[in-house]
Amino acid sequence: MQLFILRPMPPVNNHFPDPTIRRKFQQRLLRWYARHRRDLPWRKTSDPYKILVSEVMLQQTQVDRVVPKYKQFLRKYPSIEVLASASVNDVEAAWRPLGYNIRPVRLHAIAQETVQQHGGKIPASLEKLQAFKGIGRYTAGAVMSFAFRKDAPILDTNVKRLLQRVFLGSMNGNGSKPVKRLWDLSETLIPKGKGYDFNQAMMDLGALICTARKPNCSICPMRALCISYPWDKENKSCLKLRRLSR
Ligand code: SF4
Repeated sequence: MQLFILRPMPPVNNHFPDPTIRRKFQQRLLRWYARHRRDLPWRKTSDPYKILVSEVMLQQTQVDRVVPKYKQFLRKYPSIEVLASASVNDVEAAWRPLGYNIRPVRLHAIAQETVQQHGGKIPASLEKLQAFKGIGRYTAGAVMSFAFRKDAPILDTNVKRLLQRVFLGSMNGNGSKPVKRLWDLSETLIPKGKGYDFNQAMMDLGALICTARKPNCSICPMRALCISYPWDKENKSCLKLRRLSR
C-alpha cells in the first residue's frame, strides 16, 4: 500500500525559492542533464554565428525539423561573411521548408549589419544583440550563454513551462507579471559559472520530461521540489501529496 502525506509547499519568498531549494534545483537538474542530455549539433560548436543560426531556426520550429536544415544551411553558408554576401532570395530558398520566412530575411540582414558595423563579429553584448531586428531577449540570452559562455538567463517555451510548474504552479493572477517573474527566476537560479549547462539542462528537462501535454512526473528529478507535482491536467489546484519515502 502506498503511503501519502500532505506536505507544505517549498518555502518561497515572493515566489522566489530560498537558497536551499535553489541549490537542490540546480544539483538535481545538472545531475539529470549529465545522464540525459540531448546530442544536438549546435552543442558541438561555440561559433556565435552557428549558434545564432540554430537559435533563429529554433524560434517556433521543433528540434527534429531544425537539425537537418541547420546542417544543410551551414554547408551552404559556412560563415557570416558568406551569408552576408548571398542574395536574400537564395537565403529564403535555402531556409525552406522551415516556414516563418521573415526569419531568413532578418538573419541575412543581421549578417550584413554584423559585417558592415561589427567587423564580422557577432557582438558579445545583450544590449547590442537585442538591437538587431529579429533578436529578442531570449535569442540574445541564448547567444550570450551558448556562444559566449556568460551566465545569461533564457526563457523559451520549455523553460517557461518548467519554471512555472516547479515554482509558481497555478499562481498567475492578482495583477502580477508572470513572465517577468519567470525571467527573474531564470536569472536567480543560474549557478555561478555554469550558465551554459544549466540553461541547456532546463531546455532538455522541459522538452523531454516536463512536456506540455503529458509531463512524466514519475521519473522527474524535480518531483520533490515541484509545487505542481503530481501534475494535474486541469491544474486547478496544486496537488501536494508527496510520497513518504522521498
Ligand atoms: S514533477 Fe511533473 S510538473 Fe513538476 S517539473 Fe517534473 S514533470 Fe513537470
